[in-house]
Amino acid sequence: MRSLTVLSGGMGGARFLQGLLHAIRTDKLAGADRPDVTVVANTADDIWVHGLKVCPDLDTVMYTLGDGIDLERGWGRRDETWSARDELAAYGVEPTWFGLGDRDIATHLVRTQMLDAGYPLSAVTEALCRRWQPGVRLLPMSDDRVETHVAVTDPTAPSGLRVVHFQEYWVRLRADVPAERLVFVGMDEASPAPGVVEAIMEADVVLLPPSNPVVSVGTILGVPGIRDALRATTAPVVGLSPIVGGHHVRGMAEQMLTAIDVEVSAAGVAGHYGARSGDGVVDGWLVDSSDAALVPQVEALGIACRAVPLMMTDPDATAAMAVAALELVG
Ligand code: GDP
Ligand code: CA
Repeated sequence: MRSLTVLSGGMGGARFLQGLLHAIRTDKLAGADRPDVTVVANTADDIWVHGLKVCPDLDTVMYTLGDGIDLERGWGRRDETWSARDELAAYGVEPTWFGLGDRDIATHLVRTQMLDAGYPLSAVTEALCRRWQPGVRLLPMSDDRVETHVAVTDPTAPSGLRVVHFQEYWVRLRADVPAERLVFVGMDEASPAPGVVEAIMEADVVLLPPSNPVVSVGTILGVPGIRDALRATTAPVVGLSPIVGGHHVRGMAEQMLTAIDVEVSAAGVAGHYGARSGDGVVDGWLVDSSDAALVPQVEALGIACRAVPLMMTDPDATAAMAVAALELVG
């Protein structure tokens, strides 16, 4: 095996990638060669804050694999300070609910300056990765602006609905109001970033980590051309369930799946992705050991399925998940 491509969100994806790289570096993968890893990251969480372009999923992957992440928070920089945030709050400048750390701001300044100078996001990401050396090739799903917006109930609005940016739903509203509808602004006009389609077409295996199936992997698949590449590649495509025992492990996958009328279960997500032998995008699917009873239901969809421990408790456990995913497709 020479190359692996992973379609990733932020925290779930980054932690999985850590385990995958651990498996590669400790030669836990069958075969002697160490494959190159390309990561296609979700950028539909991106937001402009205080004039700065912030790319949460790209940065979480970059900081996690580059050993700059704050391990407790799971996002942002380690040893962070918050002077700029506090000063902005003292000016009464909104949004106060989205905190940017001082160290993190440097990343956003570099990115925004390069974007202003005309570089596409993919080139900016490559430049930022020169410092962080994440050990993977990190690509944004698109250089175009795509943003997930969430419609929530608001009795004071004429339509009864108010639409907020995904970050406002997640960070300010803490995802504790139902998401009535999702809107992917700019999706139809977006195209895959340079290298994305090639990375899928030329991979030996494509992996869908336990990232949010709607607002992380779902948005990557929504970029015109990416889903077609997954269906066309000769590489097997294997996913790992982010839903265990009928609940998400963290985050807000339950709210997002409910918003698009998909059953919140490991089998529900498998059915949502669908079998490549039908009109879907996966050949194989791992569910957690506790969901072993769902295996026949997933297999009935035409998807190879196995139940293995899927809790990313430490790099060894996560590495074993990556190995199991690759073994599922030979
Ligand atoms: P992102 O989607 O990768 O940006 O990151 P999130 O952290 O928002 O979502 C991660 C998804 O993976 C959520 O739906 C979680 O339920 C799931 N997840 C997080 N940790 C684990 C884990 O240890 N095991 C499994 N199977 N899923 C996880
Ligand atoms: Ca995310």
